[in-house]
Amino acid sequence: MTATAVTVRVPAKVNLQLSVGPLRDDGYHDLVNVFHAVSLADEVTAVADGRLAVTVEAAPGSAVAVDGVPVDGDNLAVRAALLVAERLGVEPSARLRIRKAIPVAGGMAGGSADAAAALVACARLWDDPESPLLGREDLLELGAALGSDVPFALLGGTAVGLGRGERLTPALTRGTFHWVFATAGGGLSTPAVYAECDRLRDAGGERAGLPDVSAELMTALATGDAKGLGAALANDLQPAALELRPSLRRTLAAGQDLGALGSLVSGSGPTCAFLAGSAGHAAELAAALGDLDGVREALPAHGPVPGATII
Ligand code: ATP
Repeated sequence: MTATAVTVRVPAKVNLQLSVGPLRDDGYHDLVNVFHAVSLADEVTAVADGRLAVTVEAAPGSAVAVDGVPVDGDNLAVRAALLVAERLGVEPSARLRIRKAIPVAGGMAGGSADAAAALVACARLWDDPESPLLGREDLLELGAALGSDVPFALLGGTAVGLGRGERLTPALTRGTFHWVFATAGGGLSTPAVYAECDRLRDAGGERAGLPDVSAELMTALATGDAKGLGAALANDLQPAALELRPSLRRTLAAGQDLGALGSLVSGSGPTCAFLAGSAGHAAELAAALGDLDGVREALPAHGPVPGATII
């Protein structure tokens, strides 16, 4: 049966390790990027109806500020829908409704998540249900064309990303990890944070080598060792994000004082991630961090969770 409306839930990511290698000739950096999908999620609904259009709203109960999200062809979900239509040779006839709980420009890949969700929703809406043209590999390939973080939003779980982050291998994990994400007012631009990272390295005379996957991190994940995971968290973009947003230092320090097992800036920031020892500990941490100056919301979440899923 042909679907007339499809809703896809898609997770945010936090980078457990983000190691940034030297700047390549093509303007990208070689990365070691350990992605972890968490239960903070957007929902994208595609309704088969009229010309391609998109609306964006905060998810019920969420205080995400959505005013920075484009509602035209710049929206990554719209670009994803157009790619699917082009590949299937159909008219891109759908209304997309995005309900956001992932902070915008927060270093949690919300735009990439919406693109992944739109790929899955539009493929379900427009592809032949009896003998689909687009399989999982095709969606991963379309995702990689949209952005380095999109394939992981399709895959979910925990995965090591090499290259620009898009060459993914699932990582072995055991159990569930409990997190708190402290969002900040206003976003940080990912290109600006990378540029600041390059500037700080040049100024310090530092030459980055090709990064390696952290063995400590992989062991902590495979054994479900939250303490070990907290100690192994690492983000090379953090000094640059702190330089551009010094108030994040206070947020990170407060989390440590409150007994977080580990803390780091999520991706390019400004969201800060804190690892807790249990769901109860995460709830306590969230309550305390939510009262801090400079913290917009402190949201408990857990991971790993699956990637983009039709609900
Ligand atoms: P990343 O961690 O992948 O660098 P981010 O989490 O910091 O990304 P996003 O929320 O993905 O940032 O948004 C970055 C920019 O992308 C926004 O400022 C917005 O202009 C643009 N954008 C395009 N489509 C979307 C979308 N569907 N949702 C959010 N932002 C979008």
